[in-house]
Amino acid sequence: MIRPICETCGTQYEAVASPPRGCAVCRDDRQYEGWNGQTWTTHEELARRHRLRLELDAGVFAIGLAPDFAINQRALLLPTDAGNILWECVSLVTDEAVRALESRGGVDMIAVSHPHFYSSMVEWSDALGGIPILIHDADKAWVQRSSPRVQFWQGDRRSLSPGVTLIRCGGHFTGSTALHWRDGPRRGGGLFPGDALQVVYDRRHVTFMYSYPNYIPMKPSAVNFIRKSIEQIEFEDVFGYTWGRNIIGNARAAVDRSFDRYLAAVTG
Ligand SMILES: [Zn+2]
Ligand SMILES: [Zn+2]
Repeated sequence: MIRPICETCGTQYEAVASPPRGCAVCRDDRQYEGWNGQTWTTHEELARRHRLRLELDAGVFAIGLAPDFAINQRALLLPTDAGNILWECVSLVTDEAVRALESRGGVDMIAVSHPHFYSSMVEWSDALGGIPILIHDADKAWVQRSSPRVQFWQGDRRSLSPGVTLIRCGGHFTGSTALHWRDGPRRGGGLFPGDALQVVYDRRHVTFMYSYPNYIPMKPSAVNFIRKSIEQIEFEDVFGYTWGRNIIGNARAAVDRSFDRYLAAVTG
């Protein structure tokens, strides 16, 4: 039996005798099948070809693959008043990374913004002692490897502590979630929105896409819903989905400007 990992999106699947024909995540119109057709790897094979980058990204301890792999997101360790949260996840787990996390106080829970970053979340939970994985219930059907560790939360908000809140933004996926950390990583707080709001290359704006690789814009109604979902919160920084894709400083104003800019562009 093997647990196939899709080489295009990085999702690990349930143990099977042979890999499925296609990847449900990549066959969806928000993703795409690899240009050479559907290809699969395994955790063991990935460990032979890749290592993990364990580096700070804008001062936050981060984990990603090297060389780049699949969507190439990086996970962040957030030492919050709700405990140490591994925000997002990646396809490879190594002993070195587990030791590095343990030396920083360990991890109390994993929270993932949306299905594109579920990757090897169950593998990570097991390696970290069977910690809970928080996923929005609306995206339940996208979980490809089930585990009793996965906890589905419902509604538009889940407070994890006085300082940490999960906010359902929707739009990109129905359950697309942002994490708001009121007091960190710097004074003024941070927003960790996955792909619900994506930090663009100028790193002074965010944008809103139903599909990023296929350039399908988000509906204005969905963008207005996100705007409402986060209108009450303050944050100084936005941490985007991958290395360096962050807005550091004055990010609340940058996000507000981005809502205006985007809505003006798509509603003409
Ligand atoms: Zn895939
Ligand atoms: Zn995505």
